[in-house]
Amino acid sequence: MADMKQYVQDTLDIITKRDPDQKQFRNTVSKVLETIVPVLEQHPEFKEQKILERMIEPERVVSFRVPWQDDQGEIHVNRGFRVQMNSAVGPYKGGLRFHPSVCLDILKFLAFEQVFKNALTGLPIGGAKGGSDFDPHGRSDSEVMRFCQSFMTELYRHIGPHVDAPAGDIGVGGREIGYLFGQYKRIRDSYDSAVLTGKRVDYWGSLARTEATGYGLLYFVKDMLDDKGISLKDKVIVVSGSGNVATYAMEKAYQLGAKVVTCSDSNGYVYDPDGIDLDAVKEIKQVRRGRIREYVQTHPNAEYHEGCRGVWTVPCDIALPCATQGEIDLDSAKILVEHGVLAVGEGANMPSELPAIDYFQKNHVLFAPAKAANAGGVAVSALEMSQNSERLQWTFEEVDQKLKDIMSNIYKNARMNAEKYADPDDLVAGANITAFVRVANIMLAHGLV
Ligand code: GLU
Repeated sequence: MADMKQYVQDTLDIITKRDPDQKQFRNTVSKVLETIVPVLEQHPEFKEQKILERMIEPERVVSFRVPWQDDQGEIHVNRGFRVQMNSAVGPYKGGLRFHPSVCLDILKFLAFEQVFKNALTGLPIGGAKGGSDFDPHGRSDSEVMRFCQSFMTELYRHIGPHVDAPAGDIGVGGREIGYLFGQYKRIRDSYDSAVLTGKRVDYWGSLARTEATGYGLLYFVKDMLDDKGISLKDKVIVVSGSGNVATYAMEKAYQLGAKVVTCSDSNGYVYDPDGIDLDAVKEIKQVRRGRIREYVQTHPNAEYHEGCRGVWTVPCDIALPCATQGEIDLDSAKILVEHGVLAVGEGANMPSELPAIDYFQKNHVLFAPAKAANAGGVAVSALEMSQNSERLQWTFEEVDQKLKDIMSNIYKNARMNAEKYADPDDLVAGANITAFVRVANIMLAHGLV
């Protein structure tokens, strides 16, 4: 054990030495590697073949200039990135994020997570992440279009349906994917549908892709609760976020008989004791691209509170963080536990800080980690690629059924490996181990590449 713990430590030291500023990346890697020590013990070949050293180094990172002009004619220069982390399992796959916080540290940690998440789906996709520090908030349609065109004018040479297929993430939705696809098609002069996923359904997107991350999260949480004989019916759920993941998590929660009492954006959160009116949220966020505070104008029983961490002070049975990374810190975790939370399901990528995860697990809160619980989005992205390859479109029901099956396989595999190697309820370890073994074995089969 000591030997493999030392191997993990040595691997982390490489990051510290090579990239001392990349703290989020190092923390993420550290949590993952800590949980796979029992597997390393049983497979000395992973250490002999330097699998960890290879896994922490992206296969390729591209960083590029994105110049664009706003509606007033002023010139702006942003930075674009694509981190192609690992292509053992399939072509690189993962979202593009447009947000001022985007930097190499964050994209590397997201890309590292993506490799594991994508491996969990059991589908042929490797892991990547990309994006830009461009802030789409308050920008007109034509500004967003010009930015997307400039971004793709560089990115196109690094991607392709058999090379790397990006999709959306924070700040990149259907509109942006449309502009990016249009520019790719124009430059390449080739209708490569599967180069981007999350496309609109009329130009070969998949039905149920929009809903997939949120629905998949609820399917996973339901499986986790079912195992303990707990029903979702009448459970009070606190959701953060009001984007794509949060919206469809709320929709499926209602369909399964639960009651959602909150949602939020980066300014603050809404608490509605009558249950969040989902149509109103869709109207504000999807149609008007407005702020969540507008909700209380038409819902007098609801309250709006500035600041988004406050959402975790609302008592609930289940918490679903669906906004962004690091949104639940230790203090928030303590309040949730004090209020008797039964389960936490991560819809966003890494929304719980590491001390918060430890606290939940020590206090026997059922914890569904992001890379397993939110894998539904990328899973349906892979199904979109399958449909594009066969030049057919499946029905909503067909895709939804496949999504359900994929989520329940992810749950079963994570649970099985948790039982085998750790605590049976430790789905963090279970998911990490399942994904690691799959990726590592394929890397070994491919030789030293
Ligand atoms: N951005 C999503 C994720 O974090 C989806 C990625 C994709 O569909 O490629 O998994």
